[in-house]
Amino acid sequence: MDQKNKIPVVEIFESLQGEGPTAGMPATFIRLFGCNLECRFCDTAYALHGNKEWMDFSSLKRKVEKYPSSWETIVFTGGEPLLWKDKIDALCYHYLYQLTKRFEIETNGTILPPVIDTSKIFYNVSPKLGSSCTPVRKRRKLDVLKQFATMDRAMFKFPIANEKDVVEALSLIKKCTIDTQHVSFMPVAANRMALITKTQWLWGFCVKHKIRMSPRLHILAFGEERGI
Ligand code: SF4
Repeated sequence: MDQKNKIPVVEIFESLQGEGPTAGMPATFIRLFGCNLECRFCDTAYALHGNKEWMDFSSLKRKVEKYPSSWETIVFTGGEPLLWKDKIDALCYHYLYQLTKRFEIETNGTILPPVIDTSKIFYNVSPKLGSSCTPVRKRRKLDVLKQFATMDRAMFKFPIANEKDVVEALSLIKKCTIDTQHVSFMPVAANRMALITKTQWLWGFCVKHKIRMSPRLHILAFGEERGI
């Protein structure tokens, strides 16, 4: 099959951004297939091992433009969307550019961003820490994090499960000279009750280190439901 102008899509849906600096904002989500990591707490395993459709760029555009929130923000999520960065480039510049005011690309911070850049593209970088149980050599790419740290439009969102994660995140922030104004800590939790408990636990660390807390609105509202 010729996959030149196609991209593997798991789902497209309209929702609210649940996490990070734009939490609460309406957006259209394009969830792409595949990831280069396998985190223990992954809540989108279906994007790694489930069904996908190789969608051609024109069909994808037709589907996305039906959602009014696309006019404001389109979020590429996964999986790890930057596995397909050349295809995302083509989509953003040639197919979806006029449609929206803003793109967000979610990434685990292990793959360099595309060379071509535009003021419309924002990155939500979420480096995985020890609690992900992914080997350090796979999940930690200092050159990539340093590159994102130089970008005004990159925000960092560290998923924190325990105190060791806090120490590791603070060390990465220092090593990669990440501006703490661009950082948030996000509680790792799979359901509503765990989220409340973990948010209360993480609160003091955020106050102590002057780091913003990221909410997880979709879990608060819907628990473990997918495609929200
Ligand atoms: S990086 Fe994200 S999508 Fe990939 S395995 Fe980890 S949590 Fe899941």
